[in-house]
Amino acid sequence: MLAATSPRRDTRLPLFVNGRTYEWPRQPTVIVCFDGCDPAYLTAASAAGAIPAIDRMRREGFATTALAAMPTFTNPNNVSIVCGVPPAVHGVSGNFYIDRETGREIMMVDATPMRAPTVLAVFSHAGASVAAITAKDKLRKALGHDLKGIAFSAEKADTCTEAENGIANVTDLVGRNAPDQYSADLSLFVLDAGIRLIESRRPDLMYLSLSDYVQHKHAPEAPEAIAFMAAVDTRLEKLVAAGAVVGIVADHGMNDMARADGRPNVLYLGDRLDTAFGPRATRVVCPITDPFVRHHGAMGGFVRVHLMRPDLVPEEVAAFIRIQPGVALALPREEACARFDLPEDREGDIAVIAAKGVALGARSVDHDLSQLAGEKLRSHGGLAEQTVPFILSHPLRLDRDMVEGGALRNYDIFVFALNNVEA
Ligand code: ZN
Ligand code: ZN
Repeated sequence: MLAATSPRRDTRLPLFVNGRTYEWPRQPTVIVCFDGCDPAYLTAASAAGAIPAIDRMRREGFATTALAAMPTFTNPNNVSIVCGVPPAVHGVSGNFYIDRETGREIMMVDATPMRAPTVLAVFSHAGASVAAITAKDKLRKALGHDLKGIAFSAEKADTCTEAENGIANVTDLVGRNAPDQYSADLSLFVLDAGIRLIESRRPDLMYLSLSDYVQHKHAPEAPEAIAFMAAVDTRLEKLVAAGAVVGIVADHGMNDMARADGRPNVLYLGDRLDTAFGPRATRVVCPITDPFVRHHGAMGGFVRVHLMRPDLVPEEVAAFIRIQPGVALALPREEACARFDLPEDREGDIAVIAAKGVALGARSVDHDLSQLAGEKLRSHGGLAEQTVPFILSHPLRLDRDMVEGGALRNYDIFVFALNNVEA
């Protein structure tokens, strides 16, 4: 590991990753992916006086909003952020895709290689000390891809090894056991581990990816959401106090997808297509989840439709989908990929995006919503969850134009934190 005081640091040439230039960190640089942090959570928590550290960053550093990559799911956006480029370049456009040749589901983050290196991996091979900590272990495998350094998840914190994770005894380091996979503490553990690493090892570059467990359950004004925001805020304060440049983005926002009576507001597109074109003529894929895992986050504002009969014409089926209530956009593959920077070989024949407040499902029999257990469905995936916070602890020195041109993306955060802050 490179010593934090290496005199060579400032003379190092910038690194090129996926066509973009990144300067060497002059001080520890920490990027936090605040999973599911819709800007509304900051607004509500700020009004409640619960996030003084983030408020200070917004006053004294830099704050705006940026657009997430589409679809607004966790994996495509986390991978976009660490690669600095959209899914068309790195290939991860959902949790899984249907192989167009065989019809089989292929997991995108653990069964297929990413097509682009991460900024983290490139810096680690150039000699920087790098750490990536994620909430869930599945994501750690993607974000830690080829990373020569520390990469572990809160979920599997109690089984970390030097060989697999670049670090052992994480629970001793943090001072508590690995948290439950479905808990607010999963995110807080990630942040606490990051604080301990900054204090003890001072990595040059660190990526902390949280979980949206709280935001799926609670609206921004809910006391549980405010308490969670406050808990995250005190930890961000500690990272800044330890001398880090901190950049905060989200992978996506979060919206209510419930009717007035509290029931989920779902358009079962599979049922509509079966009625119109016949059973098994089409296949609706919800890439927010694993193919066979059906928890309440399994529905969101984006699905892919595959045409299973050769006589079906994508533009005609898209025209039918477009007139269904609750559909915002239905685009044939080429158009969807051009518009949203998606990889064509992993797209369906038609990409469908829901209107705000609507979840898209396959056939109603494919989904088990009993696990909502009376909770309102809150989710993401569409354009309504594309706007996310983009915050830096330090003021900017460059690239105002890029910001004011409205072209800012969440996956620009590493460029901004490394190249453009007045540290
Ligand atoms: Zn997420
Ligand atoms: Zn989610």
